[in-house]
Amino acid sequence: MTVTRLIFLGPPGSGKGTQAQILAEDLNIPHISTGEILRQAMQEQTPLGIKAQSYVNSGDLVPDQLVQDLVQERLSQPDVKSGWILDGFPRKVTQAVFLEKLLAEMNQGGERVINLDAPDDVVVARLLDRGRKDDTEAVIRHRLDVYRAETAPLIDYYGDRQKLLTVNGDQSQEEVTHELQKIVTS
Ligand code: ADP
Repeated sequence: MTVTRLIFLGPPGSGKGTQAQILAEDLNIPHISTGEILRQAMQEQTPLGIKAQSYVNSGDLVPDQLVQDLVQERLSQPDVKSGWILDGFPRKVTQAVFLEKLLAEMNQGGERVINLDAPDDVVVARLLDRGRKDDTEAVIRHRLDVYRAETAPLIDYYGDRQKLLTVNGDQSQEEVTHELQKIVTS
């Protein structure tokens, strides 16, 4: 059995959610989006959702403990045996350190990291077009600042560990999907 474990990195609006979803369906593995899990929890007003909402709505990162607990819980489900795609986690170095340890403990190593890259003007235009509740111009700008300060350092973190592959997200959706399919089958 081939096991595919992928982490998607990239700025908001790079298309990582869309591509992660397509690839996960192709490979028949779970697509684990921390943003989606948080939004769902907010909608249902679960304790997690209530704790997360002020951060998500203002474009700040929710505290590590909340997302780390939810990822640990999700990666303990039986459907992760054939692999997974993590989308939106880790989002800062402390979370990456946590994940490295967790995966080692769970014998779920061998993960590869895909950095889906796209320029700022492209991602801002896409996000304004999408119009999610946290997609107002001010919140988008803040999410990009948070991305640069907290998440972009993960590019070097995973580059240093020889786990990183960069894909140009500034192409058509089909072209990006095609490149990703080549990567996962190689
Ligand atoms: P995007 O990448 O398009 O901004 P996501 O759906 O990945 O959207 O994330 C939406 C929001 O959820 C983030 O702005 C943040 O508030 C929260 N979030 C998601 N993942 C994490 C994480 N790993 N750590 C902290 N906060 C997170």
